[in-house]
Amino acid sequence: MSYDTVREQDPAVADALSGERRRQNDTLAMIASENHVSEAVLEAQSSELTNKYAEGYPDERYYGGCGHADTVEQLAIDRAEELWGAEHVNVQPHSGTQANMGVYLAMLEPGDRILSLELEHGGHLSHGHPANFAGKTYDVEQYHVDPETGYVDYEAMREHAEAFDPHIIVAGYSAYPRDIDWEAFREAADAVDAYLLADIAHVTGLVAAGVHSSPVGIADFVTGSTHKTIRAGRGGIIMCHEGYADDVDAAVFPGGQGGPLLHNIAGKAVGFGEALDPAFEEYAQQVVDNAEALGERLQEHGLSLVSGGTDTHLVLVDLRDSHPDTTGKDVEESLEEAGIVLNANTVPGETRSAFNPSGIRAGTPALATRGFDEDACREVADLIVEVVDNPDDKQVTSEVDDRVDELTDEYPMYE
Ligand SMILES: *Cc1c(COP(=O)(O)O)cnc(C)c1O
Repeated sequence: MSYDTVREQDPAVADALSGERRRQNDTLAMIASENHVSEAVLEAQSSELTNKYAEGYPDERYYGGCGHADTVEQLAIDRAEELWGAEHVNVQPHSGTQANMGVYLAMLEPGDRILSLELEHGGHLSHGHPANFAGKTYDVEQYHVDPETGYVDYEAMREHAEAFDPHIIVAGYSAYPRDIDWEAFREAADAVDAYLLADIAHVTGLVAAGVHSSPVGIADFVTGSTHKTIRAGRGGIIMCHEGYADDVDAAVFPGGQGGPLLHNIAGKAVGFGEALDPAFEEYAQQVVDNAEALGERLQEHGLSLVSGGTDTHLVLVDLRDSHPDTTGKDVEESLEEAGIVLNANTVPGETRSAFNPSGIRAGTPALATRGFDEDACREVADLIVEVVDNPDDKQVTSEVDDRVDELTDEYPMYE
C-alpha cells in the first residue's frame, strides 16, 4: 500500500495519512476497541467498490451491475455464518451502533422498554443513553454490576426485569473484563417474555475463536462490530434466527440505511476469511493470555482491577485505591506522551465524572496483532506503572517513551 497518488493530488491529506501510519507504528495501541487490520483488509476497503450502489441484498438489488458486489457480500455472509455458527447474518450495518439500531427498528415500537447495563458500568451509548437515539426513542432502564465484585449482578438484573417488564434485554459491553453468563440473560428474558440482544461488539473475535462464551443460539439477536477483536475493518454485523431474518434485513435496508458500503463489506469478507484460518484461534488466545499477564503484573505493582482480573481482552484499572489523587485523564494524557495510547474510563461506583473518570481501560488486541506475547505485556505493565506513579515527571515519560520505541521497533506494523 502506498499513498503516492494522494501525495501528488493532496499533500495535506497525504501528510495526515502517513502521519497516522507512523503513529500506529510508533505507539502501543491499547484502546481496547482498536486493532490493526491486515494489508489485505486495507486493500479491500480502499477498492473501487466504494463507487458501487447496491441497495438491496445479493441477487435482489435495486440497481444493475451488481454481480461482483453480490459475490463479495455473499462471501462475507457465508464466512460470518461459518465463523459464528449463525443461522442468518446481515453484514450491511455501517457500524455497531447501526447494527443495534437495526434490531431495535426490527422488533420495537417507539416507547417500548429496553433493559440494559448502565453506561458507567461498562454499557454502550446505543443501549439507551439519553444522548443517543435509543435513549430518545425508547423507555430505558438500566441494571448494574455489583460494586463489590465488579461482575454483573445477575440476580438484581432478573428482579429488575420482572419489575420493569422490558420488551428487550441488552447484554454485552464496552468495558467489562469478564465472560458473560448468556443463559442467565436468556432465563431473565424468558421470564418476562422479552427478546434478548447480545451485543458482542468488543469480543466478536474472541467468540469466533471460542475463547469467550458465545451467545449465538441463546440470544434472539447478536450484534457486533467488525473492526475490534475480529480485525475485519470498520463496520457492524447482525446475526439472528432465520425466523427474524426478513424483519432484520428490512430494518437495516430500507429501515435505517440506504445503500451498503460495499468496500467495507469487502474488508469484512477478507477479515472473516482470515479469521477462519486456524491461526486466528492462536491469536485470540494470545489476546486473552496477554490481558491476563498485563493485569497480573499491574496488580503486583499494587493497582486495583475491577472484578480482580480479566477473562477477556481488556483490564479495567480503578485508580482510587492505589492513587487517590490521580485521575484516569491524567494517566491517559501522560501515557500518550510516552507512546502508550489507552483511554480514561469510568469505573463502577464512579465518584468523578465521565469526562475525568477514576479508571483506565487497557486492551491487548492490537498488541497481540503486532506479535506481543505475555512477557512483552508484563514489560508494558511495568511501563504503565512508571507513568501512573509519576504522571507529571517529564524525565520518566521520556525514558518510558524510549523503551516504547525499542518495543515498537522490535514488533513493527505496516512497514
Ligand atoms: C464499540 C461498540 C459498539 C459499536 O460502536 P460503533 O462505534 O458504532 O461501531 C456497540 N456496542 C458496544 C458494546 C461497543 O463496545
